[in-house]
Amino acid sequence: MAATAEPPAECNIKVICRVRPLNAIEEKAGSKFILKFPTEDSISIGGKVFVFDKVYKPTVTQEYVYNIAAKPIVADVLSGYNGTIFAYGQTSSGKTHTMEGVIGEPTKHGIIPRIVNDIFNYIYGMDENLEFHIKVSYFEIYLDKIRDLLDITKTNLPVHEDQNRVPYVKGATERFVSSPEEVMEVIEEGKSNRHVSVTNMNEHSSRSHSVFLINVKQENEETQKKLSGKLYLVDLAGSEKVSKTGAEGMVLDEAKNINKSLSALGNVISALADGNKSHVPYRDSKLTRILQESLGGNARTTMIICCSPASYNESETKSTLMFGQRAKTIKNVVTVNEELTAEEWKRRYEKEKEKNAKLRGMLAKMDAELQKWRSGQTVSQDEQIDLKAETDAATPGAAGDKTQVITQVAGAGAGTSISDIERGQWEEERLKLYQQLDDKDEEINNQSQLIEKLKEQMLEQEDLISASRRDYDSLQAEMNRIQGDNESAKDEVKEVLQALEELAMNYDQKSQEVDNKNKENESLSEELSSKLSTLNSVQNELDSLKDSTLHQRKRVTEMMASLLKDLGDIGGIVGGNAAESKPDVVASEKIEEEFTVARLYLSKMKSEVKTLVSRCQQLEVFQTDNNKRLEVTEKDLSDCRLLIQQHEAKITSLQESMKDTEVKKRELEESLDALNEECAKLKAQEQVQVATLSQQAKETSDELKNVRDVRAALETQMENHREQHHKQLTALRDEISEKHSMIEQLKDTNQKLALAQEKLQADYDKLKQEESEKSARLAELSLQMDRREQAKQDLKGLEETVAKELQTLHNLRKLFVQDLQNRVKKSVNKKEEEEDEETGGSAAQKQKIVFLENNLDQLTKVHKQLVRDNADLRCELPKLEKRLRATMERVKSLETALKEAKEGAMRDRKRYQHEVDRIKEAVRQKNLARRGHAAQIAKPIRAGQHPGAPGTGIRGGGGGMSQNGPVTESKAHSTLIN
Ligand code: ADP
Ligand code: MG
Repeated sequence: MAATAEPPAECNIKVICRVRPLNAIEEKAGSKFILKFPTEDSISIGGKVFVFDKVYKPTVTQEYVYNIAAKPIVADVLSGYNGTIFAYGQTSSGKTHTMEGVIGEPTKHGIIPRIVNDIFNYIYGMDENLEFHIKVSYFEIYLDKIRDLLDITKTNLPVHEDQNRVPYVKGATERFVSSPEEVMEVIEEGKSNRHVSVTNMNEHSSRSHSVFLINVKQENEETQKKLSGKLYLVDLAGSEKVSKTGAEGMVLDEAKNINKSLSALGNVISALADGNKSHVPYRDSKLTRILQESLGGNARTTMIICCSPASYNESETKSTLMFGQRAKTIKNVVTVNEELTAEEWKRRYEKEKEKNAKLRGMLAKMDAELQKWRSGQTVSQDEQIDLKAETDAATPGAAGDKTQVITQVAGAGAGTSISDIERGQWEEERLKLYQQLDDKDEEINNQSQLIEKLKEQMLEQEDLISASRRDYDSLQAEMNRIQGDNESAKDEVKEVLQALEELAMNYDQKSQEVDNKNKENESLSEELSSKLSTLNSVQNELDSLKDSTLHQRKRVTEMMASLLKDLGDIGGIVGGNAAESKPDVVASEKIEEEFTVARLYLSKMKSEVKTLVSRCQQLEVFQTDNNKRLEVTEKDLSDCRLLIQQHEAKITSLQESMKDTEVKKRELEESLDALNEECAKLKAQEQVQVATLSQQAKETSDELKNVRDVRAALETQMENHREQHHKQLTALRDEISEKHSMIEQLKDTNQKLALAQEKLQADYDKLKQEESEKSARLAELSLQMDRREQAKQDLKGLEETVAKELQTLHNLRKLFVQDLQNRVKKSVNKKEEEEDEETGGSAAQKQKIVFLENNLDQLTKVHKQLVRDNADLRCELPKLEKRLRATMERVKSLETALKEAKEGAMRDRKRYQHEVDRIKEAVRQKNLARRGHAAQIAKPIRAGQHPGAPGTGIRGGGGGMSQNGPVTESKAHSTLIN
């Protein structure tokens, strides 16, 4: 059992602000340094000033920070006080830098290594009678679970309370250490363990709180005085909103728990700062439970709030400063933790007993005095008991030790009033309660395990969903591909069909060609047959000629023989060569004739073409003339139109004026009527007056006269009036008639103009028609001209061929003549004149025969060629037919394939739809199930848990984030994801 030896003292939490320099990234991004340091202990941001116990500028050294923020705590801890240093701030604001620094680089050592060193140094310089036991623990709190960093198998340690109701982490590994090096080794071990089983160290370290606990126990071997001090060194999780860095890949519960411990810390601090000590929600998270003593309890606490000076982090820095401001108002009550020995207890008991006896004596004295007073006696001033002196005598200790006395009295009272049985019961009760607490912890553990399992299941389900989604996507893609294939197949079919059509057309053409060729062939055959017949006849003729020649030869020989016989003596040789050129001349004449005929034709054609061209030109000229005329007429027409429009406007204006006149006339008539009426009235009046006057006349003739005068004047006036009216009326009527006549005139002119316009329109139409006719004719003529041109070209070609033919004929003739001459010469040289003559005749015939034979050859060649062509075409025909059939078949097969593919796609689609529906249904079911489950998980975290605790968010005034906010948000998010 522990008791307090020294009086408890109240002290505020010390809050120190440390600003780190702008880092490279912030400098590169052009972030500004937005913090100002008005004094040593104040900092201003955006004009708002925050005052702390100390403010460190970015330039300060680690050593300086340590000396002011942490060094005093060493002495405290070694004097039996509890101490806590924790670093608060957003991620990368310098918490770890401040707490740990760079281990291995002495100048960059943070608070932990320095404090460890100092503790040992301090101990080394203390009284030799003191014996110290130092043990350290190292754990982290991640997702509200305590993980032992010195034994990775302990992943969810519970928090219990010791006999003094001080919470502690139950089962945390404790290492006894005896040198700073050992402590550093332990830290290294813990840090290396922290890295194990963590995939993203940065993320993890910014989301977890790491707690290094140094427990110092000392015993004075001489006095047996035992003191103990606990020092918590806490590097908190990043204070930024989780959404800022993004809780990527984090499940809902994790995000919730990440916020949980820090927001619980904020709530605790708010509750303490508001002085609402009746209920401080320490139990909301493990972190706040462990730090219960440090916040508003028995500990000297220093909070180092770390800030980034960059404008980018302005809002976070502000909320950090606000947090520090709030924490500054928290008051702790510190006492020394002293464990009393039996001797000490005894001594104290004796002391108390003595005091008791003295007090009893005093009470007796006072009782006596009271008796005296009651019995009516007076007690003199000297006799009266000096209560103060007596009390002082009774309690010889310091006046400030009152609490201790009270404690002791209470303790003594308790000691006497509590029986052993009761104590036993209470002990039992306490054990039972602890058992329950353990059970609850176990339950919590089980629950969290269940949650873990469920989370895993959820992840699996999500995987499943995503897999099915992927499947669906791939199926969709395949379907799309098939559809694309389908489309392309359709296109192909279309192309094939087109090709088929082309082929069919080609086939038609070919067959037509074949027909043509056949026809040509026939005609050629006919020609051939005619030629053959002519040949036959020629042959016949030849035969007959041969016969006759033979006959003649015979006769000649006979005659020659007879002549030789007869003229043997005379022996005169007579030569003639007249016949040889005869046939040649005849042939050439014939050809010449034909040639001239052809030329004639040609010239005729040429002249015709020329006339056509000239006609064409004429027509063109005519057309341009017409166009010009047309334009002129159009212009006239538009002029006329303008005129008509003008006239129409005039007419309308005239009509308007007429209307005006009408109105005037009406008015005048009305005024006339009115005047007439007046006149009538006046007349009646006059009559009345006359009547009265006649009555009065008798009375006064003078008066009568007067009246008469008046009457005459009136009448003249009336007359004047009437005349005037009449005049006006006549003038108006005249005007009206004039206007009428004018209108008539205008109407006439209008009509005339309209007629003229019509006529012009008709002319225009006619001209247009004419023009179109002309253009049509022109087109026709140009077509004809084209045709003429074509014919001309053809003619030229024909001419050329004819010329060529003529040339060949000429050549042939020349050859023929030459040959003939040669032969004649030969025959002259070799044989006699008679014989010569014979051979000349037969040579011409031979020549002719050769010519005819050549002709025949050529014709047969042509015939053969045609026959071959025909055969080729015939051969090609079945091939083409086959191809056609094949194409038809391919088309058919493609069509069936298309149909099949369509059907398949339809089926696939149905199947996929079905599958998708099924998956959707399953997902929906799962969602439903999970939502139900999530509600269960979300239940323990309620914003309304601490009503009356304003600014429950850890960021307080800086747009406090209620606990509920992120939960509902994340829930919505999770539903979205699903
Ligand atoms: P936290 O632990 O708050 O996330 P760190 O302590 O890891 O932030 O600091 C982030 C970076 O900023 C580290 O590289 C650290 O060295 C640097 N840093 C922090 N504070 C200071 C400072 N006061 N002076 C120089 N560098 C600092
Ligand atoms: Mg850190």
